[in-house]
Amino acid sequence: MLDLTKPSVIKDLMQTFDTNFSKGLGQNFLINPAVLDSIAEAAECDGEGVIEVGPGIGVLTAQLAQRAKKVVSVEIDSRLIDILNHTLADFDNVKIVNDDILKLNLPKLIQDEFDASLPVSVAANLPYYITTPILTMLLESGIPFKNIVIMVQKEVGMRICASPGGKDYGALTVLCNFYSEPEIVTHVPAGNFMPAPKVDSVVVKLKMRKESPVLLNDTKLFFTVVKAAFAQRRKTLENCLANFPGLNLSKQDAHSLLLKAGIEPGIRGERLSINEFAAIANLI
Ligand code: SAM
Repeated sequence: MLDLTKPSVIKDLMQTFDTNFSKGLGQNFLINPAVLDSIAEAAECDGEGVIEVGPGIGVLTAQLAQRAKKVVSVEIDSRLIDILNHTLADFDNVKIVNDDILKLNLPKLIQDEFDASLPVSVAANLPYYITTPILTMLLESGIPFKNIVIMVQKEVGMRICASPGGKDYGALTVLCNFYSEPEIVTHVPAGNFMPAPKVDSVVVKLKMRKESPVLLNDTKLFFTVVKAAFAQRRKTLENCLANFPGLNLSKQDAHSLLLKAGIEPGIRGERLSINEFAAIANLI
């Protein structure tokens, strides 16, 4: 089988199939077998199902296919499909779908491709230009994924795994912690990719929660409160909440509501825990 982590093999493939790397589609292919192993290991997908976003030339796909019962990989770049059919020809448990992960009907794809009883995880070396939209879509999809294991730009990984009070803590942190328990699996310097990107990366594992960590009267309202709290980070919490679209709160309303929730109105949103955001939302 081809060693897809070898730069010379990648170059040969690109030449043979008369194609090149697309910077615009975030094509930075992994060339370190140890990192591939960490992603596949963290996905805990032995004998289970995996959705892969952006297989590229199939280097991670092959690792996943050796462990999982079935891997469904969604690749937007039609120029890579012939390469994938070639590099993954030895696997009969891989399905390649040529589509945009943000446009296809993911619940239907999962329903069509996996037994209903099979746990399904996501594993991906994500294209960095659309990391947040993809992650948000996966988390909000309502699909009961077991784990989501993704390679992301280091700064995004720090935001996902941040604690309240720091500069990295924000709406993305709250979103990820609401749906999952995130952790950094490993740090991946830029030299582990071909071509090397300008930034370093981390692998993040989001172990999906089976139950919400907080009791909410209205989940949509909770996320509107979170959005309001981080919309203008320099403002106090009461000023952020007051007159924010969808909340219907005057400054006086925001002030008394925060006091009622036991939260100092003059603090900044970045200091609030998920429980405190929930307390505010439930009082509105
Ligand atoms: N998995 C391969 C690896 O680890 O070497 C490639 C990862 S590369 C960082 C990201 C891949 O995502 C590319 O193959 C790119 O074409 C694909 N991609 C970009 N945007 C996409 C989208 N909206 N839907 C599906 N795939 C996408």
